[in-house]
Amino acid sequence: MKISTITNWAYAITVGLTLLSGGAFILATQYADRERDAVETAWRLDAAVEALERGAEETTEAARLYVMKGEAQFLAAFRADVGAERTREAAVRALGEAGLPPAEISALHALEADAEMLDAIEEQAVADFENGAADVARAAVFSPQHEAAQADLLAAVGHFADLVATRTQDQLDAARAAADLWGTIAKSLLALTALVFLSVLYFVLMRRVARPLHQMSGIVRRLAHQDYDVQLVRDGRRDEIGDMNEAIQIFRDNGLERARLDAERRKDQETKDRILQLMHRLQACRQESELAPIVSLFAAQLFPALSGHLFIMNDGRTALTARSTWGAPSASRQEFASLECWGIRRGKAHFSDRSDADVRCQHLSTNAAEAGLCVPLAARGDTVGMLYFEAPGEGTALAEARVYIELIAENLALAIANLQLRDRLANLAIRDPLTGLLNRRSLDENLLRVRREETDLPAALMMIDIDHFKRFNDEFGHDAGDHVMTQVAAIMTDAAKTSGIVHRYGGEEFAVVLKGAEKHIALDMAEAIRHAVETTPVTYQGQPLGTVTVSIGLASTEDSQSAATLMQRADAALLRAKSGGRNATVTDWLPAPQTRIA
Ligand code: GH3
Ligand code: MG
Ligand code: MG
Repeated sequence: MKISTITNWAYAITVGLTLLSGGAFILATQYADRERDAVETAWRLDAAVEALERGAEETTEAARLYVMKGEAQFLAAFRADVGAERTREAAVRALGEAGLPPAEISALHALEADAEMLDAIEEQAVADFENGAADVARAAVFSPQHEAAQADLLAAVGHFADLVATRTQDQLDAARAAADLWGTIAKSLLALTALVFLSVLYFVLMRRVARPLHQMSGIVRRLAHQDYDVQLVRDGRRDEIGDMNEAIQIFRDNGLERARLDAERRKDQETKDRILQLMHRLQACRQESELAPIVSLFAAQLFPALSGHLFIMNDGRTALTARSTWGAPSASRQEFASLECWGIRRGKAHFSDRSDADVRCQHLSTNAAEAGLCVPLAARGDTVGMLYFEAPGEGTALAEARVYIELIAENLALAIANLQLRDRLANLAIRDPLTGLLNRRSLDENLLRVRREETDLPAALMMIDIDHFKRFNDEFGHDAGDHVMTQVAAIMTDAAKTSGIVHRYGGEEFAVVLKGAEKHIALDMAEAIRHAVETTPVTYQGQPLGTVTVSIGLASTEDSQSAATLMQRADAALLRAKSGGRNATVTDWLPAPQTRIA
């Protein structure tokens, strides 16, 4: 209930009680008036009756003096007294007939009868005296009959006075009791009015205003300090304080919402800053292999609730292999065909979970409880890999992180594509496009490095030339010649294993650099290469092309020979191998061609 309603009601009740109390006071006053009236009436009755009695005595006195002395003045006094007595009797009758109870009226009548009886004796005595019967007259005014009439009159006056006194006392008692009762009611009502007024004042001020205001001021102070944990007063009040509580509630809700948005914005900014850091690191990578640990480091920090893999696409764009991992992802295979991922197929982020809402990627195990998000890494129209994240259950954490993951994927794809492009460009500069071997420029660099790093360990250089290569071109065409060249390059690379670096020197000539190889080991390697080429059949489009042989010139830095002259010495040895009949290894330290392996 509104405070204004309460105060209005309280005002109405107070006014009502005040009016009632006033009415009771008026009633009490009326009863006091009645009391006074009763006393006044009684006093007038008593006075009138007393005057009547006194008049009767004076009349008797005048009658006796007249019959005793016979003087005219006493007769006149008698007549005057009788007249006055009549007047008083009439007055007493008039007084008495106005509302006296029957007992008093009959007492009054008896009193009148006694007075009239006395008057009749005395008037008879006066008449007898005037008629000459003075003795009869004197005897009559002193007779026992006259005395009895006088005594009756006295008794009647006394009786009447007693009745009046008793009735007046009763009336006085009743009026006093009623006046007291209404006085008490009036005071009680007044006290009740005061009580209601004070209670309402207390209730309104203390319970309904002061206490809630005190509570509210505490709440508002805490809200001002952004303490949104504060408990609001929810008493469902519908008054002004309730309205203020509602306003505070709205204020708190708004504050909470603003704090939530601030926190979200801050978190968003932190995440974006961190992603920016990641991008800077990615851009500073010089090799694709450097990317993987950076991605796993940042992914684990950015999304602690998620785990995942960075997959890189193979050169043929047919399969993906996990290059780095963060957390403990368990749902996806670490290597799979690109068609097994719907993200790669569609070129868009694909979400897989346990529900049947969408198709599930085939590289995810069918009974895994985790949800997975596959974001293809696409740049410059090429898909270079895939960023995979997984989360337990329905993967709500994935949905929240998705926008950031896609942002990372976009930049990561560009970084990978840049590095791959750089690798390709670098390869173009240092590798021969036909055979994939390092080119002559690389050979020069490698020889320079050998010179720079000249140590106690010896180095060796083989110059290799395919024998009668022109024949393949002439007989089978240039493409077949290319094919032979490629195959010979592969055979030599295979035979050189990891200890020799094979270069295409130019045309159908190759150079193999061996580091840390003594002369006999270098010679064994040269012979192994020569033998491998000689014994491996070469075909083109299913057609056998005959045997291919190579001639090898071998020079070594052993015996403190300088690396600077290696090339010249190896070339010279090769020339000797050619002139010696080909398909042979010639060293610059042995006089005869070596054919250790037949
Ligand atoms: P020799 O045993 O004296 O070395 O005889 P050869 O025929 O191998 O030597 P020659 O120098 O007479 O001929 C080399 C040929 O190799 C000439 C050139 O057309 C051919 N050739 C060089 N580079 C390539 C290439 O990349 N592809 C093809 N198909 N032929 C090449
Ligand atoms: Mg040749
Ligand atoms: Mg040649």
